Amino acid sequence: MERIQKSHLSDEWTPISGERLMRQHELGFYIIKPMSETISTPLICPVCQYLMSSISDANMYQTFKCCNFCGLRWAQANSAKWETGWRPSPADIAIAIEEKNMVSF
Ligand SMILES: [Zn+2]
Repeated sequence: MERIQKSHLSDEWTPISGERLMRQHELGFYIIKPMSETISTPLICPVCQYLMSSISDANMYQTFKCCNFCGLRWAQANSAKWETGWRPSPADIAIAIEEKNMVSF
């Protein structure tokens, strides 16, 4: 097996196709990765345990790691505490969900 000389290989990522980076591994194959790391949105909100189903939920998750409802109700208003790990109590969450379910249009 031919030995690949590392001096011919680059450790630098080269941009390709606008949104991806490519680099050759020392064994000869190429590694391709997205330029930016994307945060995948879970199916269930980690705060209220309700289904994350809308683009608003996905957008809120990017910022506060919760659904849109929890973001509007708690995270935005308490953003400093939220950043340090504060979350509403299970009792507060239960009350808020009950109020949410009582609202009808
Ligand atoms: Zn939620």
